[in-house]
Amino acid sequence: MNKDLQDLVELSKFDASIDAFLPKLEALNEKLNSKADEISATNEQIDAIQADIEDIATQIKATNAHIAEFSAKIKDVSKKSSSIKTEREMKSLNLEEDLAKEQLSVANDDIVKYEKLIDTKNGIKKDLEDKKSSLEYELTALEDSVGSQKEKIEKDRATLYTKKDKLLNSMDSKIISFYEKIRKWAGNSAVVKVRKQACYGCFMKINDKTYSSVIKGDDIVTCPHCGRILYKDSE
Ligand SMILES: [Zn+2]
Repeated sequence: MNKDLQDLVELSKFDASIDAFLPKLEALNEKLNSKADEISATNEQIDAIQADIEDIATQIKATNAHIAEFSAKIKDVSKKSSSIKTEREMKSLNLEEDLAKEQLSVANDDIVKYEKLIDTKNGIKKDLEDKKSSLEYELTALEDSVGSQKEKIEKDRATLYTKKDKLLNSMDSKIISFYEKIRKWAGNSAVVKVRKQACYGCFMKINDKTYSSVIKGDDIVTCPHCGRILYKDSE
């Protein structure tokens, strides 16, 4: 294989390796983001349950105010009962007392119901807070591991860039611009192997004449169908 072709094969491998770092970095960021999303979803659930708890507390306050009213009413009725004169007055007072007692009993039942509800909601809130803590712990651990993985990727990438620069400096600029032109549309498949007499860029069979040039490897040969640079697969 001539030196230019050999350099092109190497250059395209460097470019492919350099490009492969980006999805790796994106996948790492994606991991961090999805953990952070889980935490913010849990926060929203905690806020919603906290709002519920505050609503119920407001209802308890209002009900307690009613209970005070009903108790005062019952006291008032018993005071009045000492000064009643007619049976009609007595009946009406009894009705008033019964009603106040009934309302008081309902209000007391409501308080019990609300307190039970608050207990349940507090339990759910506690579970959510525990979940949030462990998610935060996981996020910290993930940040550490992602951080060192990113560091390694950056280091490897810098090493590859150095190698690529060294290679570019040793290459003819015409060869480089020829390669870059193809790379613009072919991306990392600008230089492809030929296997079983087929171009591994477009997977079409190449003619015998082109194939024999590829096997010789004396010149830079492009695929007659797609225009990619071809080289003979060593296997
Ligand atoms: Zn082709």
